[in-house]
Amino acid sequence: MIKLLPTSTAGSLPKPSWLAQPETLWSPWKLQGEALREGKRDALRLALHEQQQAGIDIVSDGEQTRQHFVTTFIEHLSGVDFQKRQTVRIRDRYDASVPTVVGAVARQKPVFVEDATFLRQHTSQPIKWALPGPMTMIDTLYDAHYKSREKLAWEFARILNEEARELEAAGVDIIQFDEPAFNVFFDEVNAWGVATLERAIEGLKCETAVHICYGYGIKANTDWKGTLGSQWRQYEQVFPRLQQSSIDIVSLECHNANVPMELIELIRGKKVMVGAIDVANPAIETPEAVADTLRKALQFVDADKLYPCTNCGMAPLPRGVARGKLHALSAGARIVREELS
Ligand SMILES: [Zn+2]
Repeated sequence: MIKLLPTSTAGSLPKPSWLAQPETLWSPWKLQGEALREGKRDALRLALHEQQQAGIDIVSDGEQTRQHFVTTFIEHLSGVDFQKRQTVRIRDRYDASVPTVVGAVARQKPVFVEDATFLRQHTSQPIKWALPGPMTMIDTLYDAHYKSREKLAWEFARILNEEARELEAAGVDIIQFDEPAFNVFFDEVNAWGVATLERAIEGLKCETAVHICYGYGIKANTDWKGTLGSQWRQYEQVFPRLQQSSIDIVSLECHNANVPMELIELIRGKKVMVGAIDVANPAIETPEAVADTLRKALQFVDADKLYPCTNCGMAPLPRGVARGKLHALSAGARIVREELS
């Protein structure tokens, strides 16, 4: 990437109200069959267009074809029974009814490769594609087969690698793995979490990223953040191991978060997608506020490795708010880019 401070989003964007209920996670589709297939594609086109209108440099599908960033991927795998549901505690934070692993997990066919090909056909800009990470996947399931979190994570890593290789072949420039679970299960992250992630990116020539955040702006997450005190030092537990890993880019939460900025120093040498947009607050940032966060980050990351981004996905936000935030991100990055040149 030649341009300094290339902007991108962490992943999801709100869906149009004709496709799914707005401002809701796991929102059911409003269309069916062929109309749904076509509707998802139309929404993807709109999401791309809105990013382009806002001047976003590395674009994505806005996750328009997925109901949820983890479950949609899992739905395409065999070995998981979606009728057999169990209530589990997700990321040690909230209870959810999740499907059960009942046998050996396998990917019978590509999951997102067709969608990625469609996105590739519609833009010559660099594209980023998000997949759930192995640890976040196992944390969103009830396992009645492997009975080992680690074993199941290695199985998912193998499956994710199959998908990632095909996404790369479809022309994806950056493959990102969403691992909010890395912010919770520190011992497991260091024991095998990062290793399974490296298994998922094995043999890839495109760039790879891991996104670690404090979650969408939903109540369970904001309540949790309220218990974390004035300094959120979770990144300190996993960054040293990530710095040593083969992952190219780390995407993290920063703006309006109590994350001490100097923790970024722990991944010196990596490219850093710095969250300069708060997704838990509907107030649209001023470009100057975005620029301020980016300037502070520049103390700990070299300018050629700083990628301005959002803290997390924007799926639960009103569409107009998300659009405003995209423009603010772009304008804020422009201010700092001009200062640097
Ligand atoms: Zn996130």
